[in-house]
Amino acid sequence: MKIILATSNLDKVKEFNRILKDFDVDIKPAPYSIKVAETGKDFIENAILKARAYYREFKVPVLSDDSGLEVDVLGKAPGIFSARFSEDGSYKSNIERLLNQIKDIREEKLRARFVCAVCLIDDRDILHVTQEICEGYIIKEIRGDNGFGYDPIFYYPDLGRTFGEISAEEKDKVSHRGRALRKLFSAILLGV
Ligand code: IMP
Repeated sequence: MKIILATSNLDKVKEFNRILKDFDVDIKPAPYSIKVAETGKDFIENAILKARAYYREFKVPVLSDDSGLEVDVLGKAPGIFSARFSEDGSYKSNIERLLNQIKDIREEKLRARFVCAVCLIDDRDILHVTQEICEGYIIKEIRGDNGFGYDPIFYYPDLGRTFGEISAEEKDKVSHRGRALRKLFSAILLGV
Protein backbone atom coordinates (compact mmCIF):
# COMPACT_ATOMS: atom_id res chain seq x y z
CA MET A 1 0.00 0.00 0.00
CA LYS A 2 1.36 3.41 -0.99
CA ILE A 3 0.78 6.07 1.63
CA ILE A 4 2.00 9.60 2.20
CA LEU A 5 2.75 10.83 5.69
CA ALA A 6 1.08 14.07 6.75
CA THR A 7 4.46 15.75 7.15
CA SER A 8 7.50 16.46 5.01
CA ASN A 9 9.80 15.63 7.95
CA LEU A 10 12.12 12.93 6.58
CA ASP A 11 13.13 11.72 10.07
CA LYS A 12 9.51 10.95 10.84
CA VAL A 13 9.13 9.10 7.52
CA LYS A 14 12.23 7.04 8.34
CA GLU A 15 10.91 6.22 11.82
CA PHE A 16 7.48 5.15 10.52
CA ASN A 17 9.00 2.89 7.85
CA ARG A 18 11.31 1.34 10.46
CA ILE A 19 8.38 0.60 12.78
CA LEU A 20 6.34 -0.83 9.89
CA LYS A 21 9.15 -2.82 8.23
CA ASP A 22 7.24 -6.12 8.66
CA PHE A 23 4.15 -4.79 6.88
CA ASP A 24 3.64 -4.40 3.15
CA VAL A 25 3.49 -0.62 3.23
CA ASP A 26 5.59 2.07 1.61
CA ILE A 27 5.40 5.42 3.35
CA LYS A 28 6.56 8.51 1.48
CA PRO A 29 6.84 12.09 2.66
CA ALA A 30 4.09 14.42 1.48
CA PRO A 31 5.24 16.37 -1.64
CA TYR A 32 5.18 19.52 0.48
CA SER A 33 3.90 20.33 3.94
CA ILE A 34 0.74 22.24 4.60
CA LYS A 35 -0.15 24.22 7.68
CA VAL A 36 -2.81 22.53 9.80
CA ALA A 37 -4.29 24.28 12.85
CA GLU A 38 -4.15 21.68 15.63
CA THR A 39 -7.36 22.81 17.29
CA GLY A 40 -8.58 19.39 18.42
CA LYS A 41 -9.32 18.73 22.09
CA ASP A 42 -7.27 15.54 22.15
CA PHE A 43 -4.63 13.56 20.23
CA ILE A 44 -7.17 11.69 18.12
CA GLU A 45 -8.94 14.86 16.95
CA ASN A 46 -5.62 16.45 16.01
CA ALA A 47 -4.45 13.35 14.11
CA ILE A 48 -7.75 13.35 12.15
CA LEU A 49 -7.46 17.08 11.39
CA LYS A 50 -3.97 16.56 9.93
CA ALA A 51 -4.95 13.49 7.88
CA ARG A 52 -8.07 15.20 6.47
CA ALA A 53 -6.14 18.32 5.46
CA TYR A 54 -3.46 16.29 3.60
CA TYR A 55 -6.06 14.02 1.99
CA ARG A 56 -7.99 17.06 0.70
CA GLU A 57 -4.78 18.48 -0.75
CA PHE A 58 -3.19 15.35 -2.30
CA LYS A 59 -6.13 12.92 -2.77
CA VAL A 60 -4.05 9.82 -2.00
CA PRO A 61 -3.96 7.60 1.14
CA VAL A 62 -2.60 9.60 4.08
CA LEU A 63 -1.19 8.61 7.44
CA SER A 64 -0.89 11.12 10.28
CA ASP A 65 0.01 11.09 13.94
CA ASP A 66 -0.31 13.26 17.00
CA SER A 67 1.57 12.51 20.17
CA GLY A 68 2.71 13.92 23.47
CA LEU A 69 3.55 13.41 27.11
CA GLU A 70 1.10 13.35 30.02
CA VAL A 71 2.40 13.90 33.57
CA ASP A 72 -0.22 12.93 36.15
CA VAL A 73 0.75 15.43 38.89
CA LEU A 74 0.53 18.24 36.34
CA GLY A 75 -3.06 17.34 35.45
CA LYS A 76 -1.78 15.46 32.36
CA ALA A 77 0.15 18.49 31.01
CA PRO A 78 1.84 19.12 28.66
CA GLY A 79 -0.46 16.71 26.75
CA ILE A 80 -1.47 17.94 23.31
CA PHE A 81 0.73 21.00 23.89
CA SER A 82 3.92 18.92 24.32
CA ALA A 83 5.65 20.32 21.23
CA ARG A 84 4.81 23.93 22.19
CA PHE A 85 5.25 23.68 25.98
CA SER A 86 7.95 26.37 26.31
CA GLU A 87 8.17 29.75 24.62
CA ASP A 88 10.65 28.75 21.92
CA GLY A 89 9.34 25.17 21.69
CA SER A 90 12.85 23.65 21.56
CA TYR A 91 13.32 20.20 23.13
CA LYS A 92 15.77 21.71 25.65
CA SER A 93 13.42 24.50 26.78
CA ASN A 94 10.45 22.13 26.94
CA ILE A 95 12.40 19.81 29.26
CA GLU A 96 13.60 22.75 31.38
CA ARG A 97 10.06 24.04 31.85
CA LEU A 98 8.81 20.59 32.79
CA LEU A 99 11.63 19.95 35.28
CA ASN A 100 11.01 23.35 36.82
CA GLN A 101 7.33 22.58 37.39
CA ILE A 102 8.06 19.30 39.15
CA LYS A 103 11.15 20.27 41.12
CA ASP A 104 9.42 19.91 44.54
CA ILE A 105 7.75 16.58 43.79
CA ARG A 106 9.30 13.23 44.71
CA GLU A 107 10.32 11.09 41.72
CA GLU A 108 8.14 8.12 42.69
CA LYS A 109 5.11 10.43 42.29
CA LEU A 110 6.10 11.42 38.77
CA ARG A 111 4.10 8.89 36.84
CA ALA A 112 3.82 9.82 33.17
CA ARG A 113 2.96 8.36 29.81
CA PHE A 114 3.57 9.03 26.17
CA VAL A 115 0.41 8.93 24.03
CA CYS A 116 0.22 8.54 20.27
CA ALA A 117 -2.84 8.66 18.01
CA VAL A 118 -2.47 7.63 14.38
CA CYS A 119 -4.98 8.09 11.58
CA LEU A 120 -5.02 6.54 8.11
CA ILE A 121 -7.40 7.71 5.39
CA ASP A 122 -7.37 4.95 2.79
CA ASP A 123 -8.02 4.98 -0.96
CA ARG A 124 -11.79 4.66 -0.34
CA ASP A 125 -11.80 7.70 1.96
CA ILE A 126 -12.33 5.49 5.03
CA LEU A 127 -10.79 6.67 8.31
CA HIS A 128 -8.90 4.22 10.54
CA VAL A 129 -7.72 5.42 13.97
CA THR A 130 -5.80 3.90 16.86
CA GLN A 131 -4.30 5.35 20.02
CA GLU A 132 -1.75 3.72 22.31
CA ILE A 133 0.26 4.68 25.38
CA CYS A 134 3.60 3.90 26.97
CA GLU A 135 3.76 4.19 30.78
CA GLY A 136 6.79 5.37 32.75
CA TYR A 137 8.14 8.04 35.11
CA ILE A 138 9.77 11.43 34.75
CA ILE A 139 13.22 11.62 36.29
CA LYS A 140 14.89 14.86 37.30
CA GLU A 141 18.17 14.39 35.45
CA ILE A 142 18.83 14.20 31.75
CA ARG A 143 20.06 10.73 30.82
CA GLY A 144 21.15 9.56 27.36
CA ASP A 145 21.63 11.11 23.94
CA ASN A 146 19.28 8.96 21.89
CA GLY A 147 15.78 9.81 20.71
CA PHE A 148 14.23 13.28 20.78
CA GLY A 149 11.86 15.48 22.76
CA TYR A 150 11.32 14.31 26.33
CA ASP A 151 13.14 10.97 25.83
CA PRO A 152 16.13 11.74 28.14
CA ILE A 153 13.84 12.36 31.15
CA PHE A 154 11.35 9.55 30.47
CA TYR A 155 12.30 6.52 32.56
CA TYR A 156 10.90 3.21 31.32
CA PRO A 157 10.83 0.80 34.31
CA ASP A 158 10.66 -2.46 32.30
CA LEU A 159 14.05 -1.72 30.73
CA GLY A 160 15.44 0.23 33.72
CA ARG A 161 16.62 3.07 31.48
CA THR A 162 15.36 6.31 29.99
CA PHE A 163 14.25 6.46 26.37
CA GLY A 164 17.40 8.54 25.82
CA GLU A 165 19.46 5.50 26.83
CA ILE A 166 17.85 2.81 24.69
CA SER A 167 18.32 2.12 20.97
CA ALA A 168 15.75 3.10 18.35
CA GLU A 169 14.88 -0.57 17.83
CA GLU A 170 14.32 -1.10 21.58
CA LYS A 171 12.13 2.01 21.70
CA ASP A 172 10.05 1.00 18.64
CA LYS A 173 9.07 -2.29 20.32
CA VAL A 174 7.49 -0.62 23.35
CA SER A 175 6.78 2.97 22.35
CA HIS A 176 3.35 4.57 22.07
CA ARG A 177 4.05 5.20 18.36
CA GLY A 178 5.22 1.65 17.68
CA ARG A 179 2.18 0.18 19.40
CA ALA A 180 -0.34 2.49 17.72
CA LEU A 181 1.10 1.92 14.23
CA ARG A 182 1.36 -1.86 14.55
CA LYS A 183 -2.19 -2.03 15.89
CA LEU A 184 -3.53 0.05 13.00
CA PHE A 185 -1.79 -1.93 10.24
CA SER A 186 -2.42 -5.33 11.87
CA ALA A 187 -6.13 -4.49 11.81
CA ILE A 188 -6.15 -3.20 8.22
CA LEU A 189 -3.78 -5.62 6.51
CA LEU A 190 -4.00 -8.75 8.65
CA GLY A 191 -7.49 -8.43 10.07
CA VAL A 192 -6.29 -8.88 13.66
P1 IMP B 1 3.55 16.16 17.39
O1 IMP B 1 4.62 16.20 16.34
O2 IMP B 1 2.53 17.24 17.28
O3 IMP B 1 2.96 14.81 17.53
O4 IMP B 1 4.28 16.56 18.76
C1 IMP B 1 4.81 15.62 19.54
C2 IMP B 1 5.63 16.24 20.66
O5 IMP B 1 5.45 15.41 21.82
C3 IMP B 1 7.11 16.21 20.34
O6 IMP B 1 7.58 17.45 19.89
C4 IMP B 1 7.73 15.82 21.67
O7 IMP B 1 7.94 16.97 22.43
C5 IMP B 1 6.66 14.98 22.36
N1 IMP B 1 6.85 13.54 22.04
C6 IMP B 1 6.00 12.74 21.33
N2 IMP B 1 6.49 11.50 21.21
C7 IMP B 1 7.68 11.52 21.84
C8 IMP B 1 8.67 10.51 22.02
O8 IMP B 1 8.60 9.36 21.55
N3 IMP B 1 9.76 10.90 22.71
C9 IMP B 1 9.91 12.15 23.22
N4 IMP B 1 9.03 13.12 23.06
C10 IMP B 1 7.90 12.81 22.36
